[in-house]
Amino acid sequence: MLCPYCTHPESKVIDSREADNGESTRRRRECAKCEKRFTTYERVEKTARLVVVKKGGTRTPFDGTKILAGIQTACGKRPVPEDAKRMLAQAIEDALHREFEKEVDSHEIGVRVARALRRLDRIAALRFASELYEFKDLQDFMREAEDLAAIPEESPTQQRLFDDGESASGSAPPPAG
Ligand SMILES: [Zn+2]
Repeated sequence: MLCPYCTHPESKVIDSREADNGESTRRRRECAKCEKRFTTYERVEKTARLVVVKKGGTRTPFDGTKILAGIQTACGKRPVPEDAKRMLAQAIEDALHREFEKEVDSHEIGVRVARALRRLDRIAALRFASELYEFKDLQDFMREAEDLAAIPEESPTQQRLFDDGESASGSAPPPAG
């Protein structure tokens, strides 16, 4: 580690302690030449252990922020607390890391997010599902909506389906068959 003042390569550690809740070590050093003091941090390199296999077979390192982003997009302006979204994303991420060793299908992640969202907010769940399953027609959409309606509401943001005035084009006809 070069001294930031004189670039001398040798220094001695005069103090060493844990930082970032034990995730790094902070070292106070003294340059062997100019005797000025500086600080270095040492931490374990984080490797993306899990790889996501996307539709079509492309692989990309797992990125938990994408789960949160997906949840946030689905929730839009729904009255879902930011904390609840974060906790949900974290819970899904933790479960994936526990259950999958190397690879996980992107669709599997989507299914889990869709399932978890149902407990948080039905409208958000429906939005997410419609993206995930690429509903081809209104019937697909209505089927999912009915499934959701059949689930007991646990969310504190309980509201009737479609009452946020920005879903389902106009008044939806009853599902045929
Ligand atoms: Zn120096």
